[in-house]
Amino acid sequence: MQRIELGQSYGNFKTETPFDFSKNSSIGCGGFAPCVAYPCDDGELFALLSRLDADGIPFVVVGNMTNVLPPDDGLQKLVVCTKRMRGISRTPNGLFVQAGVSAGRLLRVCQTEGLLGAEFLAGVPCTLGGALFMNAGAGGSYVNEIVESVLVYRRGRRVELSLAECRYGYKTSAFMQNGDVILGGRLRLKTGSDREIAERKAYYLGRRAHLPTGKSMGCVFKNPDNGVSAGAWIEKSGLKGVRIGGAVVSNEHANFIINDRRATSADVRKLIDYVKDTVKSRFGVDLQEEIRYLE
Ligand SMILES: Cc1cc2nc3c(=O)[nH]c(=O)nc-3n(C[C@H](O)[C@H](O)[C@H](O)COP(=O)(O)OP(=O)(O)OC[C@H]3O[C@@H](n4cnc5c(N)ncnc54)[C@H](O)[C@@H]3O)c2cc1C
Repeated sequence: MQRIELGQSYGNFKTETPFDFSKNSSIGCGGFAPCVAYPCDDGELFALLSRLDADGIPFVVVGNMTNVLPPDDGLQKLVVCTKRMRGISRTPNGLFVQAGVSAGRLLRVCQTEGLLGAEFLAGVPCTLGGALFMNAGAGGSYVNEIVESVLVYRRGRRVELSLAECRYGYKTSAFMQNGDVILGGRLRLKTGSDREIAERKAYYLGRRAHLPTGKSMGCVFKNPDNGVSAGAWIEKSGLKGVRIGGAVVSNEHANFIINDRRATSADVRKLIDYVKDTVKSRFGVDLQEEIRYLE
């Protein structure tokens, strides 16, 4: 593996070499990257990306790695992980939240500050950056409903995008096309009582009680726009429990693929293709991945 080293001039943020995708991704698959860097705030992330671009060092930005499938032979790129960017500050309409803040931390701060609107994220294992990129959602609510603006790194510039400029749709955003790196987001939240927030959090957490445990990426496929969920099409196709290598279609929730501890990314990818082909040939329905392939 080629070495990627960041000299002293890059700053003092924490780095580790190499970075093992199988230990850091929720699906538990994938090879290695030569190095990972953990900036602590949006200023450090901005400075790091500017230097990487200037020096021509390839990189990929990740949050909690709960919606990605890394390749078995790893990546010849620097991994930039936002998980240490945990800062949150008050704004006139809600909060400014740095990209690495987890849903759990966000909701604890919302409760302390009496801010309502983000409870649907309770139990989603995301960073805010990942959620803003994916337009994460649960229980019929989506992140775009609470976004005021998103602060990004764009080829050496800091740009603040309005909600309209983020071009959100069902599990899509402008960030999937434009290569922007999310530094943080301004969330527009309402005021609410401690009790109201706690009750709504408990409601959304309760809805998740049935979700499969085990190593996964959450839902693999987006729901098609024909009114029937992806999981229902997979189940109707008789695919629950189908296995390729160590990758299995969950018996509890057909839109989850579980790594039973020995799956490779290739197993998972073959199973994804098999599910798509089977649902297409049986019902003529095209399933589209929600998960992102790291490349
Ligand atoms: C058990 C389980 C349950 C889940 N439940 C839900 C659910 O209820 N609803 C839901 O929507 N999702 C769910 N997911 C999927 C996942 O948690 C979400 O998609 C989440 O938003 C991903 O956040 P992340 O920080 O893990 O992003 P990652 O997986 O690290 O990254 C996802 C994508 O975003 C990009 N990215 C991450 N951070 C940045 C950044 N700062 N700037 C630019 N690009 C970035 C990455 O390059 C990658 O392409 C679940 C996953 C699991 C494992």
